[in-house]
Amino acid sequence: MAAEVASVSPTMAVFQVLTGFWSARAVYIAAKLGLADLVKDGPKTVAELAVLTGTHAPSLYRVLRALASIGWFEEDASGRFGPTPLTVGLQTGVPGSLRFLAMTELGEEHYPAWGDLLFSVKTGKLAFNQVFGMANWEFWASHPENAQIFNQAMSEVTAVLEPAVLEALDLSGFKRIVDAGGGKGTLMTSILRAYPSARGVVIDLPHVIEQGRQLIDAQGLSARCELVAGDFFESVPEGGDAYILKWVIHDWDDERSIAILKNCHRAMSPDGKLFVIEAVIPSGSEPFFHKFMDLNMLVMTGGRERTETEYRALFEKAGFHLNRITSTPTEVAVLEGVRRTGTETQ
Ligand code: SAH
Repeated sequence: MAAEVASVSPTMAVFQVLTGFWSARAVYIAAKLGLADLVKDGPKTVAELAVLTGTHAPSLYRVLRALASIGWFEEDASGRFGPTPLTVGLQTGVPGSLRFLAMTELGEEHYPAWGDLLFSVKTGKLAFNQVFGMANWEFWASHPENAQIFNQAMSEVTAVLEPAVLEALDLSGFKRIVDAGGGKGTLMTSILRAYPSARGVVIDLPHVIEQGRQLIDAQGLSARCELVAGDFFESVPEGGDAYILKWVIHDWDDERSIAILKNCHRAMSPDGKLFVIEAVIPSGSEPFFHKFMDLNMLVMTGGRERTETEYRALFEKAGFHLNRITSTPTEVAVLEGVRRTGTETQ
């Protein structure tokens, strides 16, 4: 961020950051209304778009004009709005699209929680719970439409990171791979394709597993992939030789993280390995996107992004040794854990 704004005056740099949410929220409108899908085959008038989206045409025009001024949509000479390279990234079902991420991050849950960031900073407690009166996972369990959007957003991000993660995650030789908090199973489907003799188990909350079933069936992988609707604080499926936790530990405080890790320790075969896939926060004030993801955790989940030292301590407390960290071209790395000799899970 510092690098991006270095070329403008300090006042303009401040102004850009202060008003960043204006453009972000305008992009949210495009994502929510599916505007990028509606113009993907060619430009449409605002009147047409307003009818198709059930919106107020003059107001929709103002949003589109503002977005077009920063490269999202393009207005032609006859006043019709068409696609741009940026709007392709909001189309549904296009590889690399982040439409559902825009909808969840800037929509009905994360955005109100971020609005109360000050509450978290003053109290150390969750802004989300303050605004909604319940934890985020409970909210999604009782709001299926929002949950579907959130789970799809996680799949979108996983798909973007996937080539880098699969490159760094060597699962050759593992026979039963468990992805705990594996969401809809997006990563597992790619693992099973890459390792044809492996079997997979995905455990997640019941409403998420329900969606996962459709994905696994559609990919013809149901014979090799078990789906478990459960709670990883109670237990994780037994007998795996590889346990993956991707973007799970950052959702929880140390105590809860250690509980999940201990459940993996307890369940895994003696020579099993643990693979935690997370960003590792570097020391110093260099730009690093996950320093802001950490604030997302502060307001949404009560978890945190961690440094190598912090991950090492978590692993040790759960009976694992942090064997190696394999970085990727993205900020996300694979942290490999092995059981410390002589550790019995308490
Ligand atoms: N690993 C996936 C999803 C990460 S989001 C990915 O990287 O795309 C965190 C996941 O943890 C969500 O799918 C959420 O439903 C799941 N989760 C939260 N609490 C859980 C619990 N108590 N037991 C099992 N899964 C849980």
